[in-house]
Amino acid sequence: MDLLSLQTLVLDRGFIPIRRVHWTRAVSMWWVGRAEVLEEYGLVARSPSMEIPIPAVVRHLRGEPRRRWTVEVRFSRRALFLRDGGRCQYCGRKLPFQLATHDHVVPRSRGGQTVWDNVLLACLPCNQRKGARMPEEARMKPLSLPRRPKPGSIPAGPRGEEAQLLDIPPLWLPYLGRPLA
Ligand SMILES: [Zn+2]
Repeated sequence: MDLLSLQTLVLDRGFIPIRRVHWTRAVSMWWVGRAEVLEEYGLVARSPSMEIPIPAVVRHLRGEPRRRWTVEVRFSRRALFLRDGGRCQYCGRKLPFQLATHDHVVPRSRGGQTVWDNVLLACLPCNQRKGARMPEEARMKPLSLPRRPKPGSIPAGPRGEEAQLLDIPPLWLPYLGRPLA
């Protein structure tokens, strides 16, 4: 596992997940007494003077509980595939995962970014046909509008597999509750 990329799930005082942070931030919250560690990855970061177990889940010890769910589905090829039901969003053809490409609705050459609300699943022929044009210019009306999926809206699968699809560490799952179950 890559220590540099590990993240920590942060719960509010009422055990509601509120955000994900880089683990070093979670360690400093714990260090100053603002958070307690609930789960560890079983990995240790070493400095010359100390060893720090890397936290997987921490809980705020201060502040009012925030009843807001902000753990977002991270953009990834797999999450996009699931959001768009494995279908090309131009011709509607069902695609094998390996052959699915993603189309930038506003082309990259015009400043379109690789974000949830600008990317649709597409087959290669549609993607090439559309090229660096807007859908109207290419006369290709998408079947859906690109939207950020609601947290937990990606269809459920086996827990471990789901965690992989969503880039969620398995240690977080018990704290994420029903939306991911
Ligand atoms: Zn297509």
